[in-house]
Amino acid sequence: MISQKYKKMLEGKSVIRELSEFATERGKVIGYENVFDYSLGNPSVPVPKEFTQVMMDLLSSKSPTELHGYSPSLGIPSVRKKIAESLNGRFNMNYSENHIFMTTGAAGAIAHAVRCVTEPGDEVLTFAPFFPEYHPYIDLTGAVLKVVPPNTEDFQINFTMFEEMLNEKVAAVLINSPNNPSGVIYSAETIKQLADFLRKKEKEYGHEIFIISDEPYREILFEGADSIYVSNYYNNTLSCYSYSKSLSLPGERIGYVAVNPACKDSDLIVSMCGQISRGIGHNCPPSLIQLAVAEVVDLTADMSVYETNMNLIYEKLIDLGFTCVKPDGTFYIFPKALEEDAKVFCKKALQYDLILVPGDSFGCPGYFRMAYCIDTEKVERSLSKLEEFVNSEYRK
Ligand code: PLP
Repeated sequence: MISQKYKKMLEGKSVIRELSEFATERGKVIGYENVFDYSLGNPSVPVPKEFTQVMMDLLSSKSPTELHGYSPSLGIPSVRKKIAESLNGRFNMNYSENHIFMTTGAAGAIAHAVRCVTEPGDEVLTFAPFFPEYHPYIDLTGAVLKVVPPNTEDFQINFTMFEEMLNEKVAAVLINSPNNPSGVIYSAETIKQLADFLRKKEKEYGHEIFIISDEPYREILFEGADSIYVSNYYNNTLSCYSYSKSLSLPGERIGYVAVNPACKDSDLIVSMCGQISRGIGHNCPPSLIQLAVAEVVDLTADMSVYETNMNLIYEKLIDLGFTCVKPDGTFYIFPKALEEDAKVFCKKALQYDLILVPGDSFGCPGYFRMAYCIDTEKVERSLSKLEEFVNSEYRK
């Protein structure tokens, strides 16, 4: 008999993927250039040319068995060392290569991190609005994901609810800043308050409560935004990183877990990740891509277009009377819908070829997400459609 667990998951398909598929189908009818597809967080800018050059150099100079052979299960030592050194220089940490575990993107990083610090039945708390894929990431580990309701004022942490929900069964808190979908960065005050409270509860409960810090948007920061490195504030932190967004490399599936050297059992966690990878099949990320990213660890793609797009959209939304927290980074914005049910709102928007994602699956009903990793020219054309949509449906 086929697995009932995975069969049941077919009922809960990703809303984002479904909308993106709708956009593709609609594009076949009216031309994709006329579909204003704000559904998917797929980077729209090219990788840095240095990365392409490194790939060509590697392919023409290194032996095929080195480039295409199995990676050691923890990742290639020289790559892990370069990443550790880069993080130390940028964030004043003291990682060694033994604190870095190479993964297939942030998804792979979270899959390992959660398994390292939870037992089946333990709770993992996260904060709405949150990335909906956290459900499959966590649910399939046997841990239980609990979602702290949002603070819609500014999308920082809702501490009142968090303090109520934190209990002895919580083994980890999963945070994501800069945040998908709100685009907001948790401020230093927020992270300090979180860290202080967790330290207090660790003492009270007599066990660690780890922070799993999901950081794929760490480098996509807009003017004036502070860069906060969570590990600087809390020792028991596992940072989950991905080159998918910062280098525009989502298809290459490369990232890492960085274990704070001051974390409890930090000398064991990376080796434990190696054991976990044997079981979950997320093992030995591609050698070629590891070697290539190691040469560009301090570079990013030119991501200036995201800020340009954000400003255009944000100003238009405010003009049109939307309530919206201004993003500090990422390529997402998360305004309040103009009617209570954001699913109805987003469905109406489809008639104007605007593909918007309702906030329900992000744990924040009544809001919607726009992923503006698209060409600025298209953003500009979409704004008159947005105005037409709002005026026709809500200002009659
Ligand atoms: N975490 C967040 C918040 C994301 O937005 C994404 C991807 O969109 C991921 C994790 C997964 O990243 P990756 O594609 O690198 O596995």
